[in-house]
Amino acid sequence: MINMTERIYEHDSYCREFTAKVISCEKKDEFYYVELDKTAFFPEGGGQAADIGTLNDAEVLDVQIKNGIITHKTKTAFETNQEVFGKIDWETRFTRMQSHSGEHVLSGIVHNLFDYTNVGFHMSEALMTVDFSGPLTAEDIEKVEFLSNQAIYKNALITATFPSDEELEKLDYRSKIEIDEQVRIVTIDGIDCCACCAPHVARTGEIGIIKIVDFYPNKKGTRVEMLAGINALKDYAFLNASNKQLMGVLSAKRENVADAVTKQNELIGALKSENSRISKQLAMYELNPTEINGSVYSISNGLNYDELRYCANNLTEKGVKICILLSKDAEGNYLYVVSSEETDVKPIVSELNSTFNGKGGGKPNYAQGKLSAESEEALTTVVENLLK
Ligand SMILES: [Zn+2]
Repeated sequence: MINMTERIYEHDSYCREFTAKVISCEKKDEFYYVELDKTAFFPEGGGQAADIGTLNDAEVLDVQIKNGIITHKTKTAFETNQEVFGKIDWETRFTRMQSHSGEHVLSGIVHNLFDYTNVGFHMSEALMTVDFSGPLTAEDIEKVEFLSNQAIYKNALITATFPSDEELEKLDYRSKIEIDEQVRIVTIDGIDCCACCAPHVARTGEIGIIKIVDFYPNKKGTRVEMLAGINALKDYAFLNASNKQLMGVLSAKRENVADAVTKQNELIGALKSENSRISKQLAMYELNPTEINGSVYSISNGLNYDELRYCANNLTEKGVKICILLSKDAEGNYLYVVSSEETDVKPIVSELNSTFNGKGGGKPNYAQGKLSAESEEALTTVVENLLK
């Protein structure tokens, strides 16, 4: 019979330091996997990462549980029966306790209000994602967030118990799944009752704050992104600092930053279209058109397709038969626009493309593309021949 590791964190989530006896120490690659008779280290599970900390001077890199045996991954070897001093990284652990308890409060409230179940839970270093089995509107989310924080103000007691099978039968709790092990029930007085293996804070007041950051439909339900405790405070500090920075840049009041950005965007849009209108008109002055038999060609620099097209339209409207406008771009290639109201420009375009390794096309009366001509002289000769 294998003796399972005694889990201190299940009964005492505030235990930061402990002494234990080494049961075994197995080497695999450059790491050691240490089994103790008891531990306060929470092993990865239920959507929460493993605790970090130290065993004597050795850093605990990972903690896993398998068949009730908990192993601590280290880079240091330990002797069997040796006594070790374990210390968990309390800041990391407490932050996770705040987060995890916050998630229970929120999930409990969603369950009570809408009878949805929590079908997925993931905890990253800060943000938590919780998947609920049904749809939630913006008003629902606002209500859930408000009630979650009300639950914090109540400073409700959070307890972990191991009810007997008969007691469990009668109990209405979330995460009811068949497991062989004895079920651990985490109860938040008057708010939630849920099967859970993780350590929690003792009262909801310690969660500090619950903030829903985002929510969106996910499969047939809703995914909620949330923060709790110190992580929510850090997020608030970050957002406040960036808001302050924007206030300076925009000369806006604290509550008006979004409006100021919207106004700026409208202004940028208006300036862009004004700029485009002016640059198209300017393009007409940058052309140096040569006329051949009532048609026109031009080779210029730095004009884009919009500008070339504007010029071509302008010229054909003035009665130009065929218009071939080229402009050298920054890479040394030539953009072209060919237009005509009376002649099919496709033969001209295919001649240009085949002679100068070009790409592009269009309709019978308009085409555009790009050529890689060796020199302007070569281009001029071919274009002039096409218009003769
Ligand atoms: Zn849980």
